[in-house]
Amino acid sequence: MSDTIAAISTAIGEAGIGIVRMSGKASINIANKLFKGKKIEKLTNGENRKLIYGHIIDLENNEIIDEVLIAYMKAPYTYTREDMVEIYCHGGIISVKKILELVLKNGSRLAEPGEFTKRAFLNGRLDLAQSEAVIDMIRAKTDKSFQVSLDQLEGSLSDKVRKIREILLEMIAHIEASIDFPDDDVEDVAYEELEKKAKLVENEINKLLKTSDRGKILRDGLNTVILGKPNVGKSSLLNAILRENRAIVTNIPGTTRDIIEEYVNIDGIPLKIVDTAGIRTTEDLVEKIGVDKAREMVDKADLIIAVFDASDDITEEDYQIIDIIKKKRSIVLLNKSDLPSEYDENYLKKLLPDKEIIVTSIIKGLGIDRLEQVIKDMFYKGNIDVESDVIITNVRHKNQLLKAKKNIEEGLESIISNIPLDCIEVDIKSCWENLGEISGDTIGEDILDKIFSEFCIGK
Ligand code: GDP
Repeated sequence: MSDTIAAISTAIGEAGIGIVRMSGKASINIANKLFKGKKIEKLTNGENRKLIYGHIIDLENNEIIDEVLIAYMKAPYTYTREDMVEIYCHGGIISVKKILELVLKNGSRLAEPGEFTKRAFLNGRLDLAQSEAVIDMIRAKTDKSFQVSLDQLEGSLSDKVRKIREILLEMIAHIEASIDFPDDDVEDVAYEELEKKAKLVENEINKLLKTSDRGKILRDGLNTVILGKPNVGKSSLLNAILRENRAIVTNIPGTTRDIIEEYVNIDGIPLKIVDTAGIRTTEDLVEKIGVDKAREMVDKADLIIAVFDASDDITEEDYQIIDIIKKKRSIVLLNKSDLPSEYDENYLKKLLPDKEIIVTSIIKGLGIDRLEQVIKDMFYKGNIDVESDVIITNVRHKNQLLKAKKNIEEGLESIISNIPLDCIEVDIKSCWENLGEISGDTIGEDILDKIFSEFCIGK
């Protein structure tokens, strides 16, 4: 970590300002090669944490690149715990790029994705769960998901995991003491004590795991597909939802035609409505991307909103849709209720006894409130009584918890069957290690690289 890294830390595009950031020992020297201040000519230790006004100049031809503010932040009280320099220049693409090129030419190298945060982790300023919270905050789609990530950055998850690991450590110490000083009486006590503690650990892990479904939705959005035959009102529905709740539109490049994800914010619950190149409906989906792909999208969906047209006969296509949604989490809309109807909700109720059916007239705006209410109820149902104040949003954390759960269950079984203590210790240690991978206390280099490579450059 002795080299100095640099990157553009703001999004590229038209904007008031842009920021080029450096971290590493040479930051201040490199900055001084290109910066010429107005009143204060150069950065020095005395200018720690001050904003200084001046120009970035290309010394090769004495050309002024931009008018900037610059800040030097002295280690260790910085994001990376290393010396850092930030250059605040004009936004847009030209200035930031030129300044980045200059700092690279003068002795820094381009940062890898997430490398600033990786250094913060390696230098002990953030643990791994906190580092992962940083990327989640940047990507958050709703206030609520941002809040959950912020709590995680503040250390809520890490604290919880640390407490569980402390209990495990006590168990390990207890086992080792009993192995070192074998005595029948002590052993009986040991088993009793271990059982109590193992149950406690199991319970805490389960509490965390219970939050993970909700956490995943908060983080990634509720993957939603609107299903229905042509002309039932799917686009009208989407537009009606978007009009009031549109949160964010993101492009996923790299696919044959860019996929657009629209995020809708229903009272803090992000719905992710996937829109492949403007195709929002199943029948178009089948036509454009094939049956398998369309089925895959339906399979992957967390929620299906199925729309039927009450003013028209129920057709073979409707029956197919009914078949698809039977096994999925879904809400049924009986639309066009403003027109004379061919069939009513009772008929649908018979075909779909355990589904919520909402009578709507999307064109008149009737029933949309109810739809949003039902989505909210679905999301919060069974979650209100969740005792844990920490929410698991990250699949990696969930997987570690699942491994730890398996370890502690096996350990508990061995304790109850009075299996020799050194065998039990293996499970308890594995549990301790698997939990340690959440906060990064025990973790391999390859996993670290993988985690940080998901970050954006400049963070
Ligand atoms: P899609 O093909 O399923 O996306 O259906 P659209 O949203 O394009 O709607 C098809 C037609 O039905 C349009 O002319 C809409 O204005 C109309 N429509 C949608 N919802 C309603 C409704 O609640 N009542 C009536 N009367 N017409 C509607």
